[in-house]
Amino acid sequence: MFDLKGRVAIVTGGNGGIGLGMAKGLAVAGASVVVAARNSDKSRAAVDAINQVGAGRARAIEVDVADEASVNGLIDETVKSCGRLDVLVNNAGINIRKPPDQLTLAEWREVLDTNLTSAYLCSHAAYPAMKKAGGGKIINIGSMMSIFGASFTPAYAASKGGIVQFTRSCACAWAKDHIQVNAVLPGWIDTELTVRARQQVEGLHENVLRRTPAARWGVPDDFRGIAVFLASPASDFVTGTAIPVDGGYSIQG
Ligand code: NDP
Repeated sequence: MFDLKGRVAIVTGGNGGIGLGMAKGLAVAGASVVVAARNSDKSRAAVDAINQVGAGRARAIEVDVADEASVNGLIDETVKSCGRLDVLVNNAGINIRKPPDQLTLAEWREVLDTNLTSAYLCSHAAYPAMKKAGGGKIINIGSMMSIFGASFTPAYAASKGGIVQFTRSCACAWAKDHIQVNAVLPGWIDTELTVRARQQVEGLHENVLRRTPAARWGVPDDFRGIAVFLASPASDFVTGTAIPVDGGYSIQG
């Protein structure tokens, strides 16, 4: 039910943080993983780490997820070199932490392009290959900011709210093709992204510990299981959902 042998998965932003955690889970379950990100040194190191836990079939393809031609190249190269595409994890993301009155249009666009338009570009490009193969799985990474707002994160929250609605729309459109589209909403996870957040947002570390029922930050390996579930036949009747992986952060009253 959770077997991914013979499946090919792309993980955008798979060279670190949550993406690397998900990539490792998929590899352990048997998938061939394509790490898709910009920094090729980091991607090479990630491929080695994935191959240590998986069957040794991971590879890296350089991509800028905000660029249409680059994304189309990623999908073409994956299908040509691996022969198929079964799973797409739209995980790449950035944040620029400023209140709305200080955020420039260029910064707004950079965040929206990287976090939201990228998911459209990758899914749009992946759809024909998945349809031809008779099905597929798309996993979009949202955030607690898909649910909540914060004064310092207008573009990021808009992009992550958009991810949930985009997920639902794709799920409705592509269910007939046996393509399931779901979102994962991480709580506060210890990665490069949040190292910067802890420097920029006063009291964040203590607030996360106080507010999270599990009383800890998440780690990338917390995402191995949800990646396997949403990529495998175990989730064939699950589509359009947004599943928090947050140690209970979003249900604490
Ligand atoms: P990291 O900063 O560790 O990883 C971000 C990844 O995105 C990197 O692999 C980076 O690779 C890639 N990336 C960024 N921009 C681009 C681009 N233009 N093209 C291709 N790849 C790109 O962050 P996290 O692991 O924390 O974040 C992963 C996802 O999880 C993001 O969508 C984030 O919003 C989300 N998330 C994280 C939370 C957390 O607490 N950490 C909480 C909620 C959501 P490279 O620089 O090599 O391109």
